[in-house]
Amino acid sequence: MGFVDYRSAMENSSSGHLKRKLTRRDFSIGSGMLLAGLCFAPPLTSHAAQGRPAKGGIYPFKLGIASGDPTPTGVVLWTRLAPKPLTSGGGMPAEQFEVSFVVAADEAMTKVVASGRAVAGPEWAHTVHVEVEGLQPDTWYWYQFQFGDHMSPKGRTRTMPAADADPERLRFAFVSCQNYEWGYFTAFDHLARENPDLVVHLGDYIYENGPHKERPRQHNSDTCVTLEDYRARYAQYKTDPMLQRAHEVAPWIVTWDDHEVANNYAGLVPKVAAPTREFARRRAAAYQAYFEHMPLRRMSLPSGSDMLLYRGFEFGKLASFHVLDTRQYRTIQPMAEGFHPMSPKMLSPKGTILGERQRTWLLGRLSNTKAAWNVIAQQVMVAPIDYKAGNEIGLNPDKWSGYENDRRNLIRHLQSAKTPNPVIITGDIHCHWANEIANDFDGETAVPVAVELVGTSISSDGDGEADSKRNQTLMRENPCVKFRNKQRGYVMCEVTRGGLKADFKTLPYISRKGAPLETAASFVIESGKPRLNRV
Ligand code: FE
Ligand code: CA
Repeated sequence: MGFVDYRSAMENSSSGHLKRKLTRRDFSIGSGMLLAGLCFAPPLTSHAAQGRPAKGGIYPFKLGIASGDPTPTGVVLWTRLAPKPLTSGGGMPAEQFEVSFVVAADEAMTKVVASGRAVAGPEWAHTVHVEVEGLQPDTWYWYQFQFGDHMSPKGRTRTMPAADADPERLRFAFVSCQNYEWGYFTAFDHLARENPDLVVHLGDYIYENGPHKERPRQHNSDTCVTLEDYRARYAQYKTDPMLQRAHEVAPWIVTWDDHEVANNYAGLVPKVAAPTREFARRRAAAYQAYFEHMPLRRMSLPSGSDMLLYRGFEFGKLASFHVLDTRQYRTIQPMAEGFHPMSPKMLSPKGTILGERQRTWLLGRLSNTKAAWNVIAQQVMVAPIDYKAGNEIGLNPDKWSGYENDRRNLIRHLQSAKTPNPVIITGDIHCHWANEIANDFDGETAVPVAVELVGTSISSDGDGEADSKRNQTLMRENPCVKFRNKQRGYVMCEVTRGGLKADFKTLPYISRKGAPLETAASFVIESGKPRLNRV
């Protein structure tokens, strides 16, 4: 086994030279790989056990498997060894182990195209992130891990079409907000049956708070603060068989919102407070646990309390995904929680939800994109929703409304750069919304610029309801809102050159298992016309 600096590993996967002193940011190349499947994990020490089964031989793949961050030639494969998921260290001894993996072109796993070994060590909670390379574009694959005699579940994943390919269609689902306590992840069970090409997760993969006795399920600990706390919380969520199934059917592209760390935090500032060392430490722990449990590439490896999560994906020339992080770099909310009229504080150019680097990166991508559809995958509502009935205006400062300078810049830029078919997908708010986004602040009559599809939660806030007085009030108050529904579910999108169809999926209940799947509303956006047409 040769240990290499990850940069030289990318340039020359056969390099075995140690370029500098190894740090935890270095990676090892698993031996015996047929293709350049780079695994990253701390280096395997001489004490490392080779494929030795876990203590007592208990099944170690209780948290399932996952794949993610696909490119035309590769994808990340993920698993974690955790024979006793909710106990310290997941029930693994504090040693490094080797896990082997196989990638095949068929479900029976006979046409093997890549295989190798990866290191799972206590430094990263015995998680494994394998970056498989050398795969064919636009192709489905199956993969499986092995540890000792134990085989993981089999997963299916796919690569993106080649950069210059013009694929006929893309079917992707987007999801958010899966509070374990509020009920069952039935939505994931249905989603898995739809066989999407991709799943995009827009945040609140976990919730950090302690248990509530009255809810259908209970969190495993008090509020998460330490790395150990967050790891155990991910473990609890990942024991859910329906969440596991949704990971097994397609690659996921993930980003976070606030609850992966703490409710409504902004940058290094906890909700309504000043930045503290303590919070920086907490954020570092939360980010590390997130990285450990998601199928992310090493570009996202956390460094102190920072972690790079904004990034782009291309589905050939059909669709480009611009994945944002609106939590890590935002300035503090201009005012406390609640609804507020527009104020100079919200308009201040000192306030930002993206931070300067991410904003430059995003606007550059939106200028240079060659894709027919441009999906901006992010967390919080972009439409300036007025929550107060009547003449009074009530805006929510935790959303893009609190960062009006960034909001207007984005909308102006989409207009001036003529970004083809911008579609913003949003989570956070536990409610389906279909919004038309207009430039209505430059002194002209409103010019439609983009649409915003807001997906409801998988489970957060419980059963919910399809319609209500409040629903009707909000829709009357905000003519840009074409649909709103407060049940649980997800959004399924089908993209072709000519149009994007969005199905707002709902479940009548989640406090009990077994709810059927319903389509509450469907909208078509025709290419070149940023309008929502109900079908
Ligand atoms: Fe949420
Ligand atoms: Ca109002």
